[in-house]
Amino acid sequence: MTELCHEGAALREACERVRREGGRVALVPTMGALHAGHLSLARAAREQGADFIALSVFVNPLQFGEGEDLGRYPRTLESDLEACRELGVDLVFAPAREAMYPDGFQTEVRVTGLTQPLEGEHRPGHFDGVTTVVAKLFAKTGRCHAYFGRKDFQQWRVVERMARDLELPVEVVGMPIVREADGLALSSRNRHLSESERERALGISRGLRRVHDAWASGARDAAQLTALVRREVEPTSDKIDYVALRSPETLEPAGDTIDAGVLLIAAHVGQTRLIDNLWLGVDARP
Ligand code: AMP
Repeated sequence: MTELCHEGAALREACERVRREGGRVALVPTMGALHAGHLSLARAAREQGADFIALSVFVNPLQFGEGEDLGRYPRTLESDLEACRELGVDLVFAPAREAMYPDGFQTEVRVTGLTQPLEGEHRPGHFDGVTTVVAKLFAKTGRCHAYFGRKDFQQWRVVERMARDLELPVEVVGMPIVREADGLALSSRNRHLSESERERALGISRGLRRVHDAWASGARDAAQLTALVRREVEPTSDKIDYVALRSPETLEPAGDTIDAGVLLIAAHVGQTRLIDNLWLGVDARP
């Protein structure tokens, strides 16, 4: 049975009840329009021993900048609930905007260094919105494992940092990127792509695959590796925000010759902005 609740108090009480009985709570924060990427997080939570999975669905206005796609972000609560029922998610928390940000709300949670480059540069204020809403979700859920996708690599690192710095009782877990059979990383925004845009969007994962193969055959030159992605994405996208090879821990430039790194990309195809990445090195996970 999947319970639906709209109030933070109900989420808090449910999680407290589970912990009182010795159970483990997992939280999966999402903006809804659920796809197999989101569902893989809930599945991982179950496999890793959660007794109770809470999945939040909230299109957080604070993390959208002016001129971004807040208005057209897909909202599909009914089918999201259906997917959660099938998967055995215990509780879906879908608050109204006013429940999260009542009149008088004036607090912001901000992580500094990690939020500056990449998405931070192209979406000013974005991560402040993310960390503010995630801090609120963590406060309501309490002690838990919280599952994030490494599709949003920088977001995962930022949230991890926030939890550590604020000593929140939350274990932040990063999970692999889920892709379509042809390589496209799943995203709620993919549904905005026309057929021909979707075809062009494949340039991104193709570029990353080229890097994966080059890495496997020993390429370690940062400029050469990023050029492989650019070669695929420049002709297929309408605008590239960045292609960058960074340290997976600090997100600072990885250096000229690398033995580990994460190659991150953000590009626009039509009206849709897409992000993807590839983690390289001995510690890398997909
Ligand atoms: P969103 O609804 O886009 O805010 O995403 C909610 C969570 O799902 C975030 O932790 C994302 O990183 C994760 N997620 C989104 N797409 C994918 C994907 N293709 N693979 C794995 N995780 C994903």
